[in-house]
Amino acid sequence: MCYRLKNLQAQLKRMDQKGYKAYKDITGSYSFPSFTLFVDHIQADPYAPPSRLRVRYDLQKLPLQKEWLQHSFSAEVIGDFLARGLKRALTSSRALTVDAPGQEILARTAVAITDQFLEFRLSVSLPAAGRKILGKQASQVLTADLPKACDQTAFQFNQEDLVAQLECTANQFAIRKAMTENGWVGFVANSSILPRVSGVSNKPLATGKVVSFQAPKERERTVTVPYGEPIKGMAIEKGVTVIVGGGYHGKSTLLKALERGVYNHILGDGREYVLTDDSAVKVRAEDGRRIEKVDISPFISNLPFGKTTTAFQTEDASGSTSQAASIIEAIEAKATTLLLDEDTSATNFMIRDARMQRLVHKDKEPITPFIDQVRPLSTELGVSTVLVVGGAGDYLDVADTVLMLDEYSVFDVTAQAGVVAEEIQTTRTKENKETLKRPTERKMGLTSVQSSDQRKGAAAKGLHTIMHNKQALSLSFVEQLVDTSQTRAIAACVNTLASQEASSSKSIAELIDSLYETIEQKGLDGLSSFRGHPGDLAKPRKQELFAALNRLRSLRVKN
Ligand code: ADP
Ligand code: MG
Repeated sequence: MCYRLKNLQAQLKRMDQKGYKAYKDITGSYSFPSFTLFVDHIQADPYAPPSRLRVRYDLQKLPLQKEWLQHSFSAEVIGDFLARGLKRALTSSRALTVDAPGQEILARTAVAITDQFLEFRLSVSLPAAGRKILGKQASQVLTADLPKACDQTAFQFNQEDLVAQLECTANQFAIRKAMTENGWVGFVANSSILPRVSGVSNKPLATGKVVSFQAPKERERTVTVPYGEPIKGMAIEKGVTVIVGGGYHGKSTLLKALERGVYNHILGDGREYVLTDDSAVKVRAEDGRRIEKVDISPFISNLPFGKTTTAFQTEDASGSTSQAASIIEAIEAKATTLLLDEDTSATNFMIRDARMQRLVHKDKEPITPFIDQVRPLSTELGVSTVLVVGGAGDYLDVADTVLMLDEYSVFDVTAQAGVVAEEIQTTRTKENKETLKRPTERKMGLTSVQSSDQRKGAAAKGLHTIMHNKQALSLSFVEQLVDTSQTRAIAACVNTLASQEASSSKSIAELIDSLYETIEQKGLDGLSSFRGHPGDLAKPRKQELFAALNRLRSLRVKN
């Protein structure tokens, strides 16, 4: 039964000054002049999580041209664009909110577009004085503010801006395709703006202060794109790329941009055409994390007391063991590129120099440093690495390409690095012996993801934390997790996995694959246990979901 707008107004008027629970009566649907409003869920009291609404427009009636809807990414990009617009239209509203995107364009549930309709999913804190309903204010919010903001967004958006964004996205995908065809793991377009305003803001640094990106001639490649002039920029080839340069010359900033390049950015971000192999994983040291039966033997063996490293398990990893495990896990999660920064790596994991090799005999040193495995990773497993190195010159021996940052400008110094490596021969000895094998895909027991209290399940708390079984799972060091809505989606994935039939034959990777197939078919909405709509989910990559599972204190891997 779909009520009229008038009914809603009358109902809210009658409720004025009643107890808050009376708001439940407005659950249902209402036909407004331009849309249908669905009131899906009403909060139990003014302090509970907000109530949820959907505003649904007939797609035919909106000024959306057919050709804009034809791409595989149309729904995602238009949805993202309108979510941003709606957020702006709601800036002055204290009651209404929509889950707004950051600098990346991610599939999200805030705006849904199907063949028939477009739907905004909003939250509303229904007005109250103490625990009494403020009917008049509620009527203002739901029957005046809401239609005004939604109609403005749906009908009066800037069409040129939307077209520009669709074209930008089409170009991004064209570059990604060229990257695959040419064997590049990264592409940084000329004129890109890499630095951000601050450590806590992802907005671009104001142009006056920025050295914009310019590819070194040797590395410059041109990609033709469907819209506009061909795009020139620096191609990072498969293999081992080492980024050197003095402190504060912009090394980490370039790497950070590559980390984020697994996602497409919005126009105006400055990193629109900074694109990275979308399976790339940033790996760093993370002491204190849990590790569950990971084969870290390529990097670490012969631990004191004969502790096994082929199925290494610890509640409290060290810097080096955490970094080793994170690399193996990333490969298990099908990453084909690793990104490392010396700033956030364990020194003893990265290198052992000649003097240390002499003083501490290999028999007493469990670690085979990364420098001795970075090439085999590439040649034997097809996993490329881009790493920032300021101090360890021995890495020049193992690099296919050496890039140097000098006052924020990039130079290709591969040839000079070769000369230096020739003139000053390294005195260290290689420490890797066996050939590398792909890590085996681990299987997990379903109890790993189940909660003692099934009604509760896993729940996100901000960007970096998921509460599961009363324990905080920290994702602070999962650096490519960029949006709180992704964290919520990861929590929802954990709950979805927990509710599945036990299937002992599937590995964690396979479980994730089939979960994503379902998401592909049913959309992210299907993840939510919430009735009505989950307006606040954004799609995480498989790699981040895997990273979260790997860090669960309750993860139990079956041998
Ligand atoms: P490094 O890792 O080489 O020590 P960072 O990447 O941390 O250096 O950069 C140091 C500072 O320089 C940061 O504050 C960063 O925002 C700024 N920066 C980086 N790249 C640029 C650039 N292209 N133009 C202007 N400032 C930049
Ligand atoms: Mg740095």
